[in-house]
Amino acid sequence: MYLSMVVPCFNEEHGLQRLHDALVAALSGRVRDYEVILVDDGSTDRTLREARRLAALNPRFRYVSLSRNFGKESAMLCGLRHARGRRVALLDADLQHPPELLRRMLVLLDSGYDQVVARRNRDGERRCRSTLSKVFYCAAGRLIDVRLQDGVGDFRVLSRRAVDAVLSLPEYHRFSKGLFAWIGFDTAYVSFRNAPRAAGGSKWSFGALVNYGIDGLTSFNNRPLRMSIYLGVLVAVLAGAYVLFVVVNTVVDGVHVPGYATLLAGIVGLGGLQLLFLGVLGEYLGKSYFEAKRRPHYLVKETSPEFHPQARERRLHPAAELAS
Ligand code: UDP
Ligand code: MG
Repeated sequence: MYLSMVVPCFNEEHGLQRLHDALVAALSGRVRDYEVILVDDGSTDRTLREARRLAALNPRFRYVSLSRNFGKESAMLCGLRHARGRRVALLDADLQHPPELLRRMLVLLDSGYDQVVARRNRDGERRCRSTLSKVFYCAAGRLIDVRLQDGVGDFRVLSRRAVDAVLSLPEYHRFSKGLFAWIGFDTAYVSFRNAPRAAGGSKWSFGALVNYGIDGLTSFNNRPLRMSIYLGVLVAVLAGAYVLFVVVNTVVDGVHVPGYATLLAGIVGLGGLQLLFLGVLGEYLGKSYFEAKRRPHYLVKETSPEFHPQARERRLHPAAELAS
């Protein structure tokens, strides 16, 4: 198969028909052999019903429905595992990732790249969100080893080699932006204009974005832990110098009882710093805890017939099927 498209969907009942039409329009006549895998991430609206309807209507459309909402990362992983194409495209269901761009991306991929990534500008985005993103990328540039780029999301086309590389990373906490950067391979970028959502609302609240950022910063290395050691040493040295100063001052000048402000500032400041680094430590501990459980990333509730176990078996071992 030439191309698989993986589309995570969470409460997208009003967008799927439009997505179907846009994908068909963008690919018909240009890509003959493709499949679209809709991953219903435990939607609470009629997304699953829509996915079933589209799959019945158009044989190129398949779906996998997860048993509950596992999050976009898990939904994408599920889609990547089910994809059979020699190239795999990842895109959102809300048409914020314009399917017309796919053609250009495929041409680039076929010219020898393993990843072609779409980079959007931040037109029309709320000021606080784009500022938050800038702060995040600035911090990420310093704190983690892999290079993340502003405006780069999950809209990308991957070669089979790159998909297999991503699938070989078993971690439970998946921060795709980082994983895709981590696998490396030759990567090309194409730019596009940020489009408003076709239907429904964004699933990201401000808090969710902040949490996502923290996940990203702590998913790739232990540099935040290192920083806490360095800062601890710095504070200890400063504290030592201050103690020396106080002792000398007391010997030379006698005891001055006032010092309330210094004391309070010291206690509050150090207390805050300790809590902060306890938090960093806890974050890593929590991550190890979840990794150690080795739970699956998602559970499947229902799939279209192409993904039933017998159908998969038949696909993988066609000769055995003939012999039996
Ligand atoms: N999504 C998902 N599971 C979730 C949240 C989102 O599969 O728990 C899907 C959603 O249906 C959409 C894509 O991920 O196709 C991007 O979500 P959204 O548009 O809400 O994010 P934004 O574009 O605001 O970053
Ligand atoms: Mg969106």
